[in-house]
Amino acid sequence: MDGPRFVIEASEAETLAKQSALTIPLLLPTLVKSAQSLARPPISKYHVGAVGLGSSGRVFFGVNLEFPGLPLHQSVHAEQFLVTNLALNAESHLNYLAVSAAPCGHCRQFLQEVRSAAEIKILVSDSGSDSKPNDYVPLPQFLPHRFGPYDLLAKDVPLLLEPRFNGLSLPNESAGNNKLCNGNHGENLEKLKRAALDAANMSHAPYSKCPSGVALMDDNGRIYNGPYMESAAYNPSMGPVQAAIVAYIAGGGAGYERIVAAVLVEKDGVEVKQERAARLLLETISPECEFTVVHCIAAV
Ligand SMILES: [Zn+2]
Repeated sequence: MDGPRFVIEASEAETLAKQSALTIPLLLPTLVKSAQSLARPPISKYHVGAVGLGSSGRVFFGVNLEFPGLPLHQSVHAEQFLVTNLALNAESHLNYLAVSAAPCGHCRQFLQEVRSAAEIKILVSDSGSDSKPNDYVPLPQFLPHRFGPYDLLAKDVPLLLEPRFNGLSLPNESAGNNKLCNGNHGENLEKLKRAALDAANMSHAPYSKCPSGVALMDDNGRIYNGPYMESAAYNPSMGPVQAAIVAYIAGGGAGYERIVAAVLVEKDGVEVKQERAARLLLETISPECEFTVVHCIAAV
């Protein structure tokens, strides 16, 4: 793939570490600056880079995103981007995290959604290669008295990064009766719907039980999808458009204006709905984007 990469395969990470005579955890802070350069913070101009090591040995990047014209709470923090990147790549755990600035309270809270979050080790560094193993400290030192998933959920409910299937399906529409389902455009729309459904089926929404997913298409016909992901503390939740934008950027997507179509899949008549927020975000960052909402069917 051309352009910046947001995932480094395990074998390549090992090679890079060997070349620098570093352990892989200590390779992470040396990559933080290159992660920072990929951030898109046009409001604050404050570039945050997060580099994480998953249990598979792969290394993941996360960056902060800000959206002019919208409230600040629509922003994506680098650690959230990183965790979303792990989720999109079916990585089951985050073991080490190096980040250019101390994680904010919002991100410390969001990291609680990962099972065994207390084992995530965090290093705050923008200083490059002079880090020591002891510079990594476990998440509970950043968040000692924590509210988390177990305050609200049974212990066996799948948490973020754990596999799940939400049992959603698309409504039974007759293609012939739908004007949008003709020709190439119709084929693309069907692909987008299926990609948004796939994201909704992996959505982490155990608190509201209102899973959703978004799929975006760029002007090259490439599709990027992302699931809605909730936090036990509600506000740090990651919206489905934001998650799909993470997929877009991590997948090599350029300017947001090149997003030409989007589909949101969510349940009808539920308490937590994404449609209006999703429309607002998409209209702001990509005014020409054609936005479609599909209300899915949930198996009982
Ligand atoms: Zn943060």
